[in-house]
Amino acid sequence: MNQHTRFNLPLCLTVEEDAFFHSDEIIKRYIPEIIGQKTIVISEQFLIDIYREKIMDISADFGGAEIVAIGRASFDEAVAIAKKVCIEDIKVIIGIGGGRVLDTAKYAAHISKAVYICMPTSLSNDSLASPFSVLETEGNARKTIACKIPTAIIVDTNMIINAPIGQTLSGIGDTIAKHTALYDWKLSAAKTGTNVEDFAYALARMSYDSVYHCDEKDMTSRVFIRILSRALVMGGLAMEIAGSSRPCSGSEHLFAHAIEEYYPQIKISHGLAVAMGSIPACIFQGQTPEGLMQFFHTYGLDYNPRTYGITEEMFADMWEKARLVRKGRITILSEIPHDKGQLKEIYDRMVTGI
Ligand SMILES: [Zn+2]
Repeated sequence: MNQHTRFNLPLCLTVEEDAFFHSDEIIKRYIPEIIGQKTIVISEQFLIDIYREKIMDISADFGGAEIVAIGRASFDEAVAIAKKVCIEDIKVIIGIGGGRVLDTAKYAAHISKAVYICMPTSLSNDSLASPFSVLETEGNARKTIACKIPTAIIVDTNMIINAPIGQTLSGIGDTIAKHTALYDWKLSAAKTGTNVEDFAYALARMSYDSVYHCDEKDMTSRVFIRILSRALVMGGLAMEIAGSSRPCSGSEHLFAHAIEEYYPQIKISHGLAVAMGSIPACIFQGQTPEGLMQFFHTYGLDYNPRTYGITEEMFADMWEKARLVRKGRITILSEIPHDKGQLKEIYDRMVTGI
């Protein structure tokens, strides 16, 4: 697992004000060979309605590219797009949207071997540059499937600034989760007599540090958006280099997956769920959670389980289920007993915020 002979890196990572309006010039500079190739734009109807002008402009710049709105981020939908791409000799897929659109476009590009240009409209998690797509399989069931990372990533800071604040908070949560994920990765390596991939580890650590130690406390500022965009992309690349999600996903992610799987009625974004999971994970690992809690206060990230309708009993059960959602993944949860007394203490602490 630790010997990787190859990995891909995007040819272009542009984070600029109004980048969407001159995405064709950016692509011409970095990947001139795809200019003039048949292109398709994948998005969602509500985004097409909100950002009509920008999306029409992108479509026109890429030779009148057809704009397709996805319904759900499902495996079937990604395959249907890939089929269309292959049959119509489309060479380039541009994904414009949040996680659902980007995961669908990324997987469609992977199976159709099209060039994939990723253009996020929000920064809600680190999947934008990761070598995985999370897609619905049957009903509400979802699966994380390996795929190729984007060839180009273009972030328009103006788009992100105008995105709902909850999306950016979710992206912050996913970045901060690397703190406990990296601990779990080292623990797992020690248990199995292997090494962590040092470069991937360093990249994920720097991704975390850049946001955790950021001097800019205004998350709608351009400076912060730039730092967060790069942090999320670096997290994705760390996974690409490691050949697994380990640099960005530990016990705090198992907690989030337990919510998704066993408590679908709880409405909480991925990034907020992992942020909430990182506080107990920190305590289980014998680390102090004060720094994280202080950080979350600073940015107004609400980690109080009650806010999301999670009772003390549900909280304890979620941590019990977290042990089951990904068999074979060694984390701090494999090392400690399920202790309801401790979980009650942690729950109370998270409710009071001290
Ligand atoms: Zn995540």
